[in-house]
Amino acid sequence: MKHNLCILLFLVFKANTFAQKDIPSKIKYYINKAEKYLDKEKALSGYYSIDKEGIKIYSSPQDKANQKAEFTVSWLLSDYLDDKIQNHTTQQMFDIYFKTGIFKFPEGEYPDAVYIKKNPNAKKLEGIRIAIDPGHIANDFTMGDLEKKHIIIKGDSINGIKDSIEIAEGMLTFATAKLLKDKLEKEGAIVFLTRTADKCAFGKTFSQWKKHDFKNTLDSLFKIGELKSSQKKYFLSSKVKERDIFRVIFRDLELAKRVELINTFKPDYTVIIHFNVDESNLEWKKTTSKNFNMCFVAGAFMKNDLSNKEKRFEFLRLLVSDDLEKSIALSSFFTKQFELELQVPIAKTGDAKYLLEGCLPSEAEGVYCRNLQLPRYIHSPVVYGETLYQDNINECKLLYEETDKTKNKRIQQVAEAYFNGIMNFANTIKKSP
Ligand SMILES: [Zn+2]
Repeated sequence: MKHNLCILLFLVFKANTFAQKDIPSKIKYYINKAEKYLDKEKALSGYYSIDKEGIKIYSSPQDKANQKAEFTVSWLLSDYLDDKIQNHTTQQMFDIYFKTGIFKFPEGEYPDAVYIKKNPNAKKLEGIRIAIDPGHIANDFTMGDLEKKHIIIKGDSINGIKDSIEIAEGMLTFATAKLLKDKLEKEGAIVFLTRTADKCAFGKTFSQWKKHDFKNTLDSLFKIGELKSSQKKYFLSSKVKERDIFRVIFRDLELAKRVELINTFKPDYTVIIHFNVDESNLEWKKTTSKNFNMCFVAGAFMKNDLSNKEKRFEFLRLLVSDDLEKSIALSSFFTKQFELELQVPIAKTGDAKYLLEGCLPSEAEGVYCRNLQLPRYIHSPVVYGETLYQDNINECKLLYEETDKTKNKRIQQVAEAYFNGIMNFANTIKKSP
């Protein structure tokens, strides 16, 4: 993944907001944005500067002290590169960017990616491209076990659970995505799913991938130095554990494939669907009384998260594009709908340890910046939804219903909440000229 980013660069200023603003206002805005959303531990100031010349990124604090910028984005450049940017591949953009060390940003007008067509007869989402990523891959409990996204709650007469309850998150996320896709398409949206019910983003099952691609993948990783020879030996041995193949080799590469597919699709918006659990109820063999909704967006880089050029580049992209602002805006509509339609509260910072320790809260209730792989590398506004605790005493019973989860009433409610969130958000976007 790290060396093969497939990214559509979409680097534009918030022209509508900033076209009229002076440089001191821009400086103030971007400093505040970096501190508020991106720099979780307040430890990254050695890697960037924002001043009257523009935004600069440094590969180390020493380089900053020596004023040796790795990338520079000037405020004053007027070349309108938007179209060119959109029509270049990631590799081309990286080449241009790294060769010159300077990237030019347009200052001119830039139409919003999402708009409602003027034609009153047009459907609300006509022509809007939405990527949906159903989290995880399990289509059965065996795969759910392997990816550790499988909960089994034993029958419990006190809590009114007659038989054991089994839930694989990957089945819930896919059913939600499928229902949401159908609803969005009825409103005219062009929708892309990163996987099918039983096949991962590589277009095959994990077993098929293991059979056909695993060995070649080991060779490639070894060649680029991502795998030591001792590790390669282990993975080729008969002692290798299935779980290790999944966890160490497959998982991140498959996520990278999702990023590649989504960025190739060039979405206006991306929605990543997950279902949550109570983190303090580890192993998830019993129920919890807790239940919350939340959404994640990109940001909250930790102090070691700018260790390579690709990551520093994404930091810069998130800073200067308005993907993050749009992600937060869309998320705020989701969390509101989740609370309203699912009757489950929005999580506050104190409701889970990772919200406090791994995230930066945005100004929107229940919307947190978090340095997750997908939001970091997907080049569109992107929301990572985490609805419901699957191990909650009531939810587990509701989510267990129906083998075909698209027929599950609770899943249908979740899909409806996502859908209404998007529709309410679309209603707030100004009409196109
Ligand atoms: Zn998940």
